Amino acid sequence: MIRLMQKSLEDTILEIVKEKTKNEGGIVQSVLWGLLEIDNREGTKTVLKLVRMGLIKREPVVHKGRRTYKLIYVTRKINSVKVMINLNPVMDVPCFTCKTLERCSAGGYFNPFRCIKLSTYLCR
Ligand code: SF4
Repeated sequence: MIRLMQKSLEDTILEIVKEKTKNEGGIVQSVLWGLLEIDNREGTKTVLKLVRMGLIKREPVVHKGRRTYKLIYVTRKINSVKVMINLNPVMDVPCFTCKTLERCSAGGYFNPFRCIKLSTYLCR
């Protein structure tokens, strides 16, 4: 039951932070505690969990003369992945540079089963 309540608080906080981020660029922690009628300790514990999950981030701000944090929803974006592929070994396959590739087929005049270039490549 306690676990269910914590999950519900996480979802509620995430929903509010997401909405406030969209409309106002985020929400100050103390304002959020006031909206949810929770204390700083309970709210901070849940917020830090969401921060660790990468769902929100905290930026230090001064609000009403006090140092606090602004909570901002982190838009999930697909990180670009840089994949290095070395095509050199593939480019050694004679078919990639063969002028008759489009006419080559099993049983045809140009035939991979009888091709000397391909056989030489495969047996090297
Ligand atoms: S099998 Fe031989 S003829 Fe056919 S595409 Fe490859 S290199 Fe060319």
